[in-house]
Amino acid sequence: MKLIGPFKQVVTLANLPLRGKLSDEQLEIIADGGILINNDKIQKVGNFEILKSENQNIEIETVEGEQIALPAFVDSHTHICFGGNRANDFAMRNAGKTYLEIAESGGGIWSSVQHTRGASEEELLKTLLERIDFLISLGITTIEVKSGYGLDVENELKMLRMIKKAQEQTKATLVPTCLSAHLKPRDFEGSNEEYLHYILSEILPKVKEEGLANRVDIFIEKSAFQPEESRNFLFKAKELGFEITVHADQFTPGSSRVAVETGAQSADHLEATIDEDIEFLAQSNTVATALPGASLGLGEKFTPARKLLDAGAILAIASDWNPGSAPMGNLITQASILATFEKLTTAEVLAGITFRSAFALGLEDRGRLVESFKADFVTFKTNNFQNVLYNQGSLKAESIYIDGKEN
Ligand SMILES: [Zn+2]
Repeated sequence: MKLIGPFKQVVTLANLPLRGKLSDEQLEIIADGGILINNDKIQKVGNFEILKSENQNIEIETVEGEQIALPAFVDSHTHICFGGNRANDFAMRNAGKTYLEIAESGGGIWSSVQHTRGASEEELLKTLLERIDFLISLGITTIEVKSGYGLDVENELKMLRMIKKAQEQTKATLVPTCLSAHLKPRDFEGSNEEYLHYILSEILPKVKEEGLANRVDIFIEKSAFQPEESRNFLFKAKELGFEITVHADQFTPGSSRVAVETGAQSADHLEATIDEDIEFLAQSNTVATALPGASLGLGEKFTPARKLLDAGAILAIASDWNPGSAPMGNLITQASILATFEKLTTAEVLAGITFRSAFALGLEDRGRLVESFKADFVTFKTNNFQNVLYNQGSLKAESIYIDGKEN
């Protein structure tokens, strides 16, 4: 066993409920704390000196200066496997050009599809690993990664295989998701329904066979897939043995209902969710995931996180890091900004980027510093954990521990 500390504060997130609003008084903050680790799991968190005296013959790892420790963060929604760059889309959008004008000048999701299809496996893997390393440097050790820029058998599998390869080269946990239903590709001859059938019959069986992902996502929106065809698709994906998740209510309401009714693990975006559907989500186990990076990238309103929490929903916060609408990738900055606009407590933000976002991925072994949980945590050189969100992402993480070892 190994004892790491002493930390000025260890914020454990123990005993916080999975759903609903949280007050900061509910946070367990252990002063002069230590984290006792058994192999890759947490054995105990408590006062450093007491843990030291209680446990003889253990390895002691002393931390330098004043530091605080938090559970490592979980980014439950990213698109970080991609080729190309869409800086010109960003500039055009800010210069007042419409979605259509941007698409006509060669931008939009289709441009990412072309660049991703055109990228070599080495190139895709290299840039994916660079983005993973950036996320780890922020203290994020569990990262969901979607396909969705291949949009045919060959290229969707290429993306998912590169995500699997990346997993062999990083200690972070990658959770792959098949998002072949991102939009119907321009070169597909047939209707939306025929494309969804193509995914179910041609792509998903191969994804299953190669063990490339056990989650399926769909973008339900006027410009992508419609609620009814999506509902059928999601039920069939479940029949094939996949967990499901949905890009819902980004610009138009209605699709978070489909997510709840099909038993999705999460409904992500929700910027346009109406009050009635907030209630519906709040009564389900479908995690409501806010993606403030997309609001910041597009200059659109934020997900109604306050209302969702007050209604009792399980609220997660994720980066949506992608080359088009959310190019920043800094979840800590984004979550801190969401907190200022939506008036979220520190406890609500920390829960949203740890155990609640882990739950959205079906992972209940991480995101809190409690006994038998995965020993993933992040430290910051400060004497007050509030500084992490107060500095809105500019306070750099000091050390990142994965499975009890410094990364
Ligand atoms: Zn997304």
